[in-house]
Parts: sequence; C-alpha cells; structure tokens
Amino acid sequence: MSIQNKIALVTGSTSGIGLGVAQRLAAQGCHIMLNGFGTPEQIDAAKAAVAAFGVKVGYHGADLSKPEEVQALVSATEAQLGSVDILVNNAGIQHVSPVESFDVARWDAVIAINLSAAFHTTRLTLPGMKARNWGRIVNIASAHGLVASANKSAYVAAKHGIVGLTKVVALETATTGVTCNAVCPGWVLTPLVQAQVDARAQREGVSVEQAKIGLLSEKQPSQEFVTPEQLGGLVVFLCSEDASQVRGAAWNMDGGWVAQ
Ligand code: NAD
Repeated sequence: MSIQNKIALVTGSTSGIGLGVAQRLAAQGCHIMLNGFGTPEQIDAAKAAVAAFGVKVGYHGADLSKPEEVQALVSATEAQLGSVDILVNNAGIQHVSPVESFDVARWDAVIAINLSAAFHTTRLTLPGMKARNWGRIVNIASAHGLVASANKSAYVAAKHGIVGLTKVVALETATTGVTCNAVCPGWVLTPLVQAQVDARAQREGVSVEQAKIGLLSEKQPSQEFVTPEQLGGLVVFLCSEDASQVRGAAWNMDGGWVAQ
C-alpha cells in the first residue's frame, strides 16, 4: 500500500525541515496542508514548491501557541483536503539563555509551540485515524530530545517531552493501524540554526563560515549538516507499510551526535 492520496498536515512547513518533509511527502503523492509564518511571497513560494508535485496544497497560518488556532488548523485541513492521515508535528522555536535568567514568556512560548501544540494536533486528529484504522504521526524532536546542552532549558525540556508523548501515543495505538514515532535531527542549516550561527560569529568575532565549523565540531562528529530532504526521506519511510511495526521510536539522524 502506498501513501499516494493520503492527506498530510505538516506544521511549521513554510521553511526549513517542515518544507523539506512536505516536499518529500508530496513527491509520494500526498496532498499537503502547509502551516507556518512568512511573508506572502514566502508562503506562495512554499505552496508552489509543493504543488510542483501535482498534488493538492492548502495553507493555514495558525499560531500554534494558541490551542484554538490549532483547532482551526485541523478543521481547515478537513474542510479543504479531507481527514488527516499523516500528521507531522514540526513547528518549533529556540531560545538560548542560562536557566536563571531565562525569560519566562520565552519559556512558555517554547513549551507551547514545541510540545503542547503536538498534544493538541494529536488529540484532534487521532480519533479519525483510529476510525479509519490507518494513520502516521511523526514528531520532529531533536538530538536535544535525547541529550542536553547548556543554555537550552526550555528547548531540551520540550524535546524530551515530545519524545515521551511519542511513546505514550505509540502505546495507546499499538494494536491499531496508527503509528507514532519521533525523528531526532542533529544540526540542520535552517533559519533556526542560522540565527545561532550568526550569534556565534558575533560572540567569537569569527566569520559565519568559521562559526558553522565551530558549531558542527562541538557536537556533530560527521562535521556535516543533516539536510531537510534527508529528514523528509526518513519521514516517508516511517509513513510506509514497511515501518508499520516501528512504534514509539526516537530515531536520530544526527551525524553521530548522540553516539558519543
Ligand atoms: P525554521 O525556523 O526553519 O522553521 C520553523 C517553522 O515553524 C517555520 O515554518 C515557522 O514559521 C514555524 N513556526 C514557528 N513558530 C510558529 C507558531 N507559533 N505557529 C506556527 N508555526 C510556527 O526551523 P527548522 O530548523 O526547520 O525547525 C523545524 C523543527 O525541527 C523544529 O521543531 C526544530 O526544533 C527541529 N529541529 C531543528 C534542528 C536544526 O538543526 N535546524 C535540529 C533538531 C530539531
């Protein structure tokens, strides 16, 4: 059984990993609901990049930090494309600070977007998946869902949390045709990481290229970035029938980061 004509909702898919995943699913014939922020031009470009695969594409700009907007996103997907078969919880933000000076509003935002939003999309789409006895939930966690780094308390807490949520949902669906897994990327050169590269270049008084090398050599033994397309390939595999007994996994694709 292929995933052609399945309906996939990919959160945070106007850039970076989410857009790469959306394109890989579209290449398999999935119809895609995009979500995320961006200028009208960026959103149009994301829609065009997915529509190029000849599939239906929707877009909804829900702010996932607000549960009522998550509800609106799921309702819009159902109205425009149909019930959600594949849910990829990808939207995420970062904030870097020592814990004692961590801005409280930023803590709440990271937990809301990186963790609670996935709870809401899951609780809203799971009943339909169970009723049809087929579904795939893939949570884009992080190497930081498995190990920690200093100054990333909210992010590491949220990512460890989503790995835990993944395992619980996998157990609650274990006798059904619905699976739930997490993907744990290492460094991927997206706008989220570019901001950290730029901050490092400024802090250390080095070039952006040197900052990239510094960032990679600290954590990622391959010293190469993972790409959104490679992560999209892993998501496609987790959505396949061959992966129907992969349940509750937290699968790292991280250039060796968590092997250390
Ligand atoms: P990105 O900044 O390129 O993309 C983030 C996406 O989320 C964008 O589409 C953005 O508009 C959207 N978004 C942000 N806040 C939102 C909100 N409140 N409501 C709706 N959408 C919102 O980042 P990325 O690097 O592609 O990150 C995607 C996911 O991958 C995140 O969960 C991130 O934690 C995870 N991740 C990234 C890396 C990396 O190295 N880039 C590594 C591990 C995990």
